[in-house]
Amino acid sequence: MTMTRSVTIQEGLDVYSIRKQFPILDREVKGRRLVYFDNAATSQKPQSVIDALVNYYTNYNANIHRGIHTLAEEATAAFEATRDAARQFIHAASREEIIFTRGTTEGINLVAYTWGRQNIKAGDEIIISAMEHHSNIVPWQIVCEEKNAVLKIIPINDEGELLMPEYEKMLGPKTKLVSIVQVSNALGTVNPVKTMIDAAHKAGALVFVDGAQSTVHLDINVQEMDCDFFAFSAHKLYGPTGVGILYGKKHLLESMPVFQGGGEMIKEVTFEKTIYNDLPYKYEAGTPNIADTIAFKTALDFIQETGKEKIRKHEQELLVYATSQLEQIPGLRIIGTAREKTSVISFIIDKTHPQDIGILLDNRGIAVRTGHHCAEPLMRRFGIPGTARASFAVYNTKEEIDELVTGLQKVVKMLL
Ligand code: PMP
Repeated sequence: MTMTRSVTIQEGLDVYSIRKQFPILDREVKGRRLVYFDNAATSQKPQSVIDALVNYYTNYNANIHRGIHTLAEEATAAFEATRDAARQFIHAASREEIIFTRGTTEGINLVAYTWGRQNIKAGDEIIISAMEHHSNIVPWQIVCEEKNAVLKIIPINDEGELLMPEYEKMLGPKTKLVSIVQVSNALGTVNPVKTMIDAAHKAGALVFVDGAQSTVHLDINVQEMDCDFFAFSAHKLYGPTGVGILYGKKHLLESMPVFQGGGEMIKEVTFEKTIYNDLPYKYEAGTPNIADTIAFKTALDFIQETGKEKIRKHEQELLVYATSQLEQIPGLRIIGTAREKTSVISFIIDKTHPQDIGILLDNRGIAVRTGHHCAEPLMRRFGIPGTARASFAVYNTKEEIDELVTGLQKVVKMLL
């Protein structure tokens, strides 16, 4: 008998064939081919996603759920198929736990306005961190103001990592909710959410995880994570804008009051009393963003077909390469040097305003984000007005990073 040894070959990502799927990457900006490094703000869309939008409007545009004609049935089936794909993508236990929203921001607000208003009382505490996006600060501030509750902030170290002992000390009988970003948009830090969730649950608190930046980079399993709520946006996952998912544990979603009133979220309406619809429709009042929701499934298919592990490896390679190259630029300082990071590099250059860096790079066709990244308290923590931020996606290359480095060397020469 011959013994055959099974060898698993992990093939790398063919970035050049991936790039061909993204038509925008062929466009020119200021006479040069676009280098798009603003992926943490929103990623570009593959042709398949663009086609899915056009196909819906060309062939089966109809309102969903209510119609019995063919177009309505086709649109409803495609819309609901995205719910199933999203459930699978984050490994939720049931499709009833997948609520369509406009994006992460709306998901957080939905829980703040429903669960928050119902459960937060005077003197209660909500814990967030120093690296939150404004979307995960302001809704909780509103609840705290309204209810006379207290917002507590987990501090971070100079590398941009949470001070976990401080967090553990904060947890107590008054803690009702911890709302934490899984990956920081401004620093790239990956937070230890599983440990944080376990600790919060021990203290009797629920946990909301802001997955706006993590869902595209990490494997998400909400059941293993055991978070109570999780929100993310399609447009950061190669999908369209205006669509997001709020995941919530079924028993919580069932017990919470409704968010918006209107069509679809009802079973029966009389002037005396309205009976609300079952999950997930209970939280989906009005005609949703049908086309973009349908095309979101195509974006999830693109990620699955490309392979999340391959994407992650590619982005990590870009991160390591870019970090080593940028560190050699005189006067450049990287803000956010956590041990666990996704492909985000925020930086400042001595005596240079981030906005000037952004403008000069744009003149070379390179798109980076500059400013406070909707994380003003975080910028204050580092004592800076903002940063320039390059964030990498599946279609970015080392050659593009070389162009960024050349551009920054020119910026340094020009401005210093
Ligand atoms: N949280 C984080 C960490 C984010 O990066 C963003 C988007 N920049 C949001 C929340 C809000 O997402 P959206 O604007 O898609 O609602």
